[in-house]
Amino acid sequence: MSSQQAVAEALHQARSVLILSHTNPDGDAVGSALGLMWALRSLRLRAHVALPDPVPANLTFLPGANSVGGQELVDDQDVCVVLDSSSPQHVGDLFEYATARECRVINVDHHVTNVRFGHVNWINPACPAVAQMIYWLLPLLGVSPDPKIATCLLTGFVTDTNGFSTPNTTPRLLHDAAELVTAGAPLADIIREAHLNRSLAQVRLWAQALQSLCFEDGIVWTVNTPAMRRAAGATERDSSGLSTFLLTIREAHMAASFTVLDDGRIRVSLRARPGYDVAAVAARFGGGGHPPAAGATLDGPLDEAVTLVISAMKAQVADYSATVEQP
Ligand code: AMP
Ligand code: MN
Ligand code: MN
Repeated sequence: MSSQQAVAEALHQARSVLILSHTNPDGDAVGSALGLMWALRSLRLRAHVALPDPVPANLTFLPGANSVGGQELVDDQDVCVVLDSSSPQHVGDLFEYATARECRVINVDHHVTNVRFGHVNWINPACPAVAQMIYWLLPLLGVSPDPKIATCLLTGFVTDTNGFSTPNTTPRLLHDAAELVTAGAPLADIIREAHLNRSLAQVRLWAQALQSLCFEDGIVWTVNTPAMRRAAGATERDSSGLSTFLLTIREAHMAASFTVLDDGRIRVSLRARPGYDVAAVAARFGGGGHPPAAGATLDGPLDEAVTLVISAMKAQVADYSATVEQP
């Protein structure tokens, strides 16, 4: 039996399902979780989505976003599906809380750095989004996508591929996306809501962070702090997207955005052009991700975290240059 079939089998046998995803959830985390929730509910199964952090403002348009909760949704579920999360730490305390009871853990993910923490593990790094894996699961579950399922899953495709712009945007993904549009997903609305939607406070925070833009050896980075967030009226979440923006700088091979969290820890979001591998950099600091997009959370102080991460990135750039220059 393939691992995909094993997931379908475990869901068929379930009585009540809890769906979890990672901290600081993105469109793939929320979209794949809600897409699976609607699919299971269409089979008259009990299913709930619990996330360690609230649904971000740009994803509240998703059908079912207002039903997402936290720990209070952990009940007597016999199956716990963890989506888009490379490790229990990526889910945070909610993982320990939810799995402290007797339940079967199903791990469905596309991160190369996944540590296979489930009783059933279906990991496919070739998929640009976990939402595509959930789409592939539908026929095995005997579900055809309705507009709600289609909207949630297409949102995962759009956000994890940065609007179908990443090199892993395959013909198959575009084909599956077209089928989701046919099933009733409003592509233009999804792109506008999920992807091209920022608050004034967020852009004010970016403006502050960009004042201290650093550039060395093809690596560009910025730092944002609690003081900057206070001045901008912004939240910790508002730094998300900044690393992707930094990598639009033509001279940059890699980009890093450092966020000093309210608790003093440093969250770093990393991006790289094709050929470079920031997942390897993030993994060195206990984080994870994909070669072109990864992240980690380090202990402070800030200067030390910046020095460590930037020197690891410089080593990656040097490694890559050495490989390319070989005859
Ligand atoms: P972000 O920079 O937050 O957009 O994250 C980029 C990618 O790295 C996403 O696929 C995240 O799920 C992953 N990622 C970010 N932080 C971590 C972490 N601490 N552990 C594992 N994966 C992470
Ligand atoms: Mn994600
Ligand atoms: Mn993802």
